Amino acid sequence: MPRSCYIPETLTEALEIRAKTGAIPLAGGTDLMVQAKKGIGITPVFPKPVMIISNLAELKGIRVEEDGTLVLGALATSSEIAGDERVFYHIRTAASKMGAISLRNTATIGGNIANASPKGDLPQPLIMLDADIVLISINGERVMKVDEFITGAKKTALRDDEIIKEIRVKPVEANYLLYHKIGTRKANAISKLSLSAMALVEDGIVKDFRASSGAAGDKVKRSREVESMLIGKQIGELPSLVDEFTSAWDKIISPHAMPKYRRATTKRLLSYFIGEIARGREPGIIE
Ligand SMILES: Cc1cc2nc3c(=O)[nH]c(=O)nc-3n(C[C@H](O)[C@H](O)[C@H](O)COP(=O)(O)OP(=O)(O)OC[C@H]3O[C@@H](n4cnc5c(N)ncnc54)[C@H](O)[C@@H]3O)c2cc1C
Repeated sequence: MPRSCYIPETLTEALEIRAKTGAIPLAGGTDLMVQAKKGIGITPVFPKPVMIISNLAELKGIRVEEDGTLVLGALATSSEIAGDERVFYHIRTAASKMGAISLRNTATIGGNIANASPKGDLPQPLIMLDADIVLISINGERVMKVDEFITGAKKTALRDDEIIKEIRVKPVEANYLLYHKIGTRKANAISKLSLSAMALVEDGIVKDFRASSGAAGDKVKRSREVESMLIGKQIGELPSLVDEFTSAWDKIISPHAMPKYRRATTKRLLSYFIGEIARGREPGIIE
């Protein structure tokens, strides 16, 4: 009789099981168990065997490489990410605002990305930071941008024989940072709106500007074209560009996913961020 559950102890074993059976990886189970639940007291039903991957040491931990690249193992939990000062501000803050503490102790970054919910909190800063995702199978590794990996709502480029191994994020220079999440309540609230923004300003010139919106459509919204409207500008020019910039940003977010008040809030947050830079505020986190 075919098995319904595997608990591999090594990555090699897990990859062989995945290649042979297409077993579904289960990390923290906080999405998967909810999706498979059929009712109170009824055993969850999965379309394929399940493979519990939480023992795989190769997928655990957070490290920083010599060139400053941050490596987040697929099994790094939101609590681990939120509590590690080496993790870049936007990712750390997004992780700290996910669910309640019990959820954060269990929910993993690999699960958050593979689940590809448009309201998932971690893809949003990762896409702004151009993070890479490392996928592994018995045939080797392949690397792609998180932005390419998530192809739409609940859709990813994960192949049936692959497992997410880790997320790699190169440091991005910035001296103004903003992260904002709005949910219905403080704990266990799925994002109604999330926004990351960052800018590098040197000698009164905007050298870099990036932003991303979560819960804003089928996937995280970012536009390099819109960002470029501010890059290379003197901070004194920013007030005259704010309206044009925020209107262009509004066009990249889906009106269906983001009703009027959330779009208006996104515009206000971006205007505030840009306005604070324009008025020459001390560099740092803008809240
Ligand atoms: C009460 C509650 C509150 C929540 N609040 C939030 C919130 O505020 N913000 C938010 O973003 N999410 C929230 N979630 C959703 C969920 O907790 C997160 O998406 C979490 O990060 C999923 O991680 P996991 O390890 O539990 O994934 P799992 O449930 O184990 O897996 C989710 C999906 O990812 C796949 N997967 C997992 N790991 C891998 C891997 N290494 N390689 C390949 N595929 C993999 C699984 O096969 C499955 O398809 C909430 C969920 C609940 C139940």
